Amino acid sequence: MHIPICDPKLEYLSHKAEIDAAIHRVLEDGNYILGPNVASFESEFAEYLDCPFAVGVNSGTDALHLALRSLEIGPGDEVITSPFMFIATTEAIGMVGATPVFADIDPRTFNVDPQRIAEAITPRTKAIMPVHLFGAPCDMDAILTIADQHKLFVIEDCAQATGAMYRGTKVGTLGTIGCFSFFPTKNLSCCGDGGMVVSKDEQIHQRLETLRRHGARVKYHHSRLGLNSRLDEIQAAILRIKLKHLDYRNRLRRNRATRYRELLADAVGIHLPESDRTSYDLQSDDCPPDNAIMESVYHQYTVILEDRELVRSTLTNAGIGNAVYYPVPLHLQEVHRDLNLGEGAFPVAEDTSKCCLSLPMFPDLQVVDQKVVAETIVAATRRCEVGGKKKAG
Ligand SMILES: *Cc1c(COP(=O)(O)O)cnc(C)c1O
Repeated sequence: MHIPICDPKLEYLSHKAEIDAAIHRVLEDGNYILGPNVASFESEFAEYLDCPFAVGVNSGTDALHLALRSLEIGPGDEVITSPFMFIATTEAIGMVGATPVFADIDPRTFNVDPQRIAEAITPRTKAIMPVHLFGAPCDMDAILTIADQHKLFVIEDCAQATGAMYRGTKVGTLGTIGCFSFFPTKNLSCCGDGGMVVSKDEQIHQRLETLRRHGARVKYHHSRLGLNSRLDEIQAAILRIKLKHLDYRNRLRRNRATRYRELLADAVGIHLPESDRTSYDLQSDDCPPDNAIMESVYHQYTVILEDRELVRSTLTNAGIGNAVYYPVPLHLQEVHRDLNLGEGAFPVAEDTSKCCLSLPMFPDLQVVDQKVVAETIVAATRRCEVGGKKKAG
């Protein structure tokens, strides 16, 4: 028995002929860098988000880095972000010489708590970098209000949330700049590295276009220091095909999330992702209720467990994929020693990292497999409850 946590190859296999043909067209065309597929994908992606400008780059990490560069954020500036995250955000902030400042998360959503953002603002704060973690949008109304009051830029990290909606608007278009990753495990993915930066401002857009190609707006005329960070033509050709299926596949993810909620109803010592605001019943024709504030696209299905290690080893022993995203909060990473933030600085992120577990989640996850996952968890959590009672007695 093996149920993976995700399976990127399945999407390729379901569009194999179309993707193979598109790759071959690129190979035969001979136009491998910034060719017609990148240009078309940029406009198709911009149209999908309902946003005027999109620039294809090398990765999600580069998207964040270039976003900061395009806003001229650098040494002496502070950028507020979540400590419960993958290193890419603070890496990008560090790459431009700015300082990451953390704001703790809301334990119910795993996302940065706007109240904590407000408390972290100093005269040096230049931007807020909210991460729509696990596919669920941040509390953007509150974040945008704070940004407005303090004249801060908002750089949305949408790497896990392509297609997620906040009050009927796609994430990435709510703030100043939206950053996306097409790493193979993301909701919209290519077969290698890739990323995108979107914006509504023509000047920012032009800076981004220049930065990604060695700081040259016109070839061999370099106006600023840039870098080599381009989405490549083969990946763009693949992404154009996959973009057409993204909404459908995101609906399948939401459907799997609804199913988990039903299947895990009898488990004990577990908190399911706060999906009441973020998901809806997909049997009712996939239609979100009018009052849906957030629509998560469930990049991960992450639960909080009273006894994570027990559940984790039970799943692993049963051949069921699972992962801890993220085991060490950013402020406790060795690389950020210089920030002098010890244990206890961001207690919610720290507690969450000790009890979170991500379960198998991908559009092609079959009902039979999902039942096995859920039954294994229900059995393990019950066993741990019995064990706990024994101990207590
Ligand atoms: C994956 C990811 C990134 C980095 O994207 P890459 O394309 O791997 O560089 C950034 N932020 C978040 C939230 C991610 O999940």
